[in-house]
Amino acid sequence: MHEPTLLDLTLDELAEQLATLGCPRYRAEQIWRAAFVDLVSGYDAMSTLPRNLRTRLEAALPFTPCEVGQEQVSPDGATSKTLLRLADGETVEVVSMEYAGRATACVSSQIGCAIGCPFCATGQAGFVRNLSSGEIVAQTLHVARTLQSRGRRLSNVVYMGMGEPLANVDAVLRSIRLLNDPRGFGLGARAFTVSTAGVVPGMDRLANQPLQINLAVSLHAGDDPLRSVLVPLNRKYPLEVLIAACQRYLARTHRRISFEIALVAGLNDRPHHARAVAARLSGLLCHVNLIPANPIPERLDWQRSSAAAVDAYAQVLIAAGIPTTVRDSRGAEIAAGCGQLRARSRQAPTP
Ligand code: SF4
Repeated sequence: MHEPTLLDLTLDELAEQLATLGCPRYRAEQIWRAAFVDLVSGYDAMSTLPRNLRTRLEAALPFTPCEVGQEQVSPDGATSKTLLRLADGETVEVVSMEYAGRATACVSSQIGCAIGCPFCATGQAGFVRNLSSGEIVAQTLHVARTLQSRGRRLSNVVYMGMGEPLANVDAVLRSIRLLNDPRGFGLGARAFTVSTAGVVPGMDRLANQPLQINLAVSLHAGDDPLRSVLVPLNRKYPLEVLIAACQRYLARTHRRISFEIALVAGLNDRPHHARAVAARLSGLLCHVNLIPANPIPERLDWQRSSAAAVDAYAQVLIAAGIPTTVRDSRGAEIAAGCGQLRARSRQAPTP
């Protein structure tokens, strides 16, 4: 059972907890502001608090659920991946990606993943446990602090790291509410994107949220036999069921859905694969992101698609009227494919 930390609590919950220590509400507001606006990394840095209160807080309510561990930075400095050590000894990874005009945190929602997609290092390692909302918030604040030290501001949070976010939907939604609170971090709801392999009940939960969060669906193929290989969850929620959930989401939110397609050479990157996807997405308010798959050590026989194959795939979708973008698979050079840094850190202890 995860012990709650400051980063798990709403401002009102913090005020209640501090009241049990005899503190007035303004103390909660001071602490909340220090953590979520000033981005301090511990009670020690809260110089406006009396020293004895800081000591009592350390004992009663740990500040953060994690410590910062190994970090890898891409040669151009624009992508960094950090391993965070959690209180129970598990590790989780978060990626920071800087672009012209925006900076994105890619956060993990679970340790491991039960979905088991064969091209994904996390999926190959199996499921360990869900992350708490505080553990997700801590990842985001770590990236925000790193960016701040580089004179940048975090502009987006994508739930596309380790794990299936909608299999941990309560903690994911709570982390978004915590980070969205205008009294604290104040990141707009539209800055959040939750990705899913197609957990239909979770998609329905998301559709019914008052917050305008973005949804990204990992599609990878437009026919059931191939998608069931690439995303084993497809056996439980086949394409017809998945697309019906997308239609309900669109009817409810009127928000465009992103479909992510990782392309593996020869496996799902041929024009007939693109035509199958185009047929499935026909009439949906959507956008497709094509991502040449990152190579992973577990599937050395699967290689990323060539630029020509990706381009030909994109042309099929565009000709069918589906807005399509080719994305770079950021971070392959720093093992930033899903779960790869964690997998490596378990194989070889860091010096
Ligand atoms: S790709 Fe996503 S859903 Fe599939 S195994 Fe990896 S983390 Fe899980």
